[in-house]
Amino acid sequence: MSSYSPSIEKLIESFERLPSIGHKTAIRLAFHMLDMKQEETDEFIKSITEAKKKLKYCSICFNIADTDPCPICSNPKRDQSTICVVEDVRDIMAMERTHEYKGVYHVLHGTISPMNGIGPDEIKIKELLNRIRDNDIKEVIIATNPRVEGEATSIYLSKLIKAFNIKVTRIAHGIPVGGDLEYTDEITLMKAMEGRREI
Ligand SMILES: [Zn+2]
Repeated sequence: MSSYSPSIEKLIESFERLPSIGHKTAIRLAFHMLDMKQEETDEFIKSITEAKKKLKYCSICFNIADTDPCPICSNPKRDQSTICVVEDVRDIMAMERTHEYKGVYHVLHGTISPMNGIGPDEIKIKELLNRIRDNDIKEVIIATNPRVEGEATSIYLSKLIKAFNIKVTRIAHGIPVGGDLEYTDEITLMKAMEGRREI
């Protein structure tokens, strides 16, 4: 039997469903929430609701943004002929923090992973190929994470993209094997971009 009232119990359960939140943290967050001022709580709830309502996927690169196309795809200063392929929206943020990359992106929303039943059709590969076919693309930089799935996806993609006779590069391994683009510091990521090689 839980010692908390049903409504607190429900709040704790909601927090526990979030990634990397354990039971103890969930309890702490729930009680913190109860201690918050009413306007703070309202603001918090509003920001979640607004984000869920306003945010959409960019129909070109599948980034998440308030607008479609996203600010990067619609920025005339960005080089629309260079596409950096990433696994996740958060990898775009990591890349952008380097302030070095001036091209555009394509978010795959995952990697090919036969072990987890994720085939090429489950991620945005078809969309990438259509984009390459329909636009004047000069280079595709594959920036998937240096893990088994990221590498396999990179090899799979490079074969398909080469058929279009365009340059395909892979970012250098300044990034530790098994590492995460999202948690890589700007300098390492910048070096990885500079050291990219043709594949
Ligand atoms: Zn976009």
